[in-house]
Amino acid sequence: MDITPTASGNNHNFLDIVLLLLCKIKVNNPLLIIIDSLMESAPRFLCDVMLARLARYLRAAGLDTTLAIESATDAETLREAIDEGRWLLTADRKITEHKAAKGRVIQLPFGSLDLQAAVLSGQFDIDWLSHAFTRCLIDNTPLQHATPEHAQQVPEDARQPEGELLVCSACNRVYWRGSHFKRMLKKLESWQEAATGTGRT
Ligand SMILES: [Zn+2]
Repeated sequence: MDITPTASGNNHNFLDIVLLLLCKIKVNNPLLIIIDSLMESAPRFLCDVMLARLARYLRAAGLDTTLAIESATDAETLREAIDEGRWLLTADRKITEHKAAKGRVIQLPFGSLDLQAAVLSGQFDIDWLSHAFTRCLIDNTPLQHATPEHAQQVPEDARQPEGELLVCSACNRVYWRGSHFKRMLKKLESWQEAATGTGRT
C-alpha cells in the first residue's frame, strides 16, 4: 500500500491540537483548515455495518471514516468507497470477491477491536494519537470549539482548563475529557504502542 502517514514528525496530542487551534482561531474555519493540512495524506475509510464500533475508534483517532448504509448492496457500498476515495473495511469475505473490490477493500477479523487495529496498522502507517479526538464519533464531522452556551451542557467538574471543550456542529454533541475519553485514549495508546513498539505515555 502506498498510504503515507499523517504529517510526518507531528506528534501532537489532544491538548496540542487544541492549543494549535487557539493560535489559529482568527483564520476562517480554523479547525477545518488545520485538520485538512495535517490529515491530507491519511487514509480515509468506509466501514461496513458490522464494523460500526471500529468506525467510532477510527474517528476517535481523527481519521475520516464513514459508515455504510445498512440497506445498501455490496455493489453500492463499493461504488460509494470508490467515489469518495475511501478504503472499504469489511468483515464480510463475500464483498472482497467482488470484481470492483481489488485494491479497494480490506477484510478485517470480526469482533476484536485490537485485532482489527493490528491489521490496519500492518496495512497503513497509521498514527493513532496525533490527531485524536478531532472528529465527532457519531457522524465524523470535524469538531470545533464549544461556546459558553455549549459548556452549560457538561458536568461542572468537566469545565476545567485542561478539559477544553469541543463541539460537533452537525449534531451539537459536546466533547470533554471524561471517563469515556480516557477509556478510548487508552485504547488508542495501546494500538500506537503495538504499531511502533516504542510505547508512549
Ligand atoms: Zn456530531
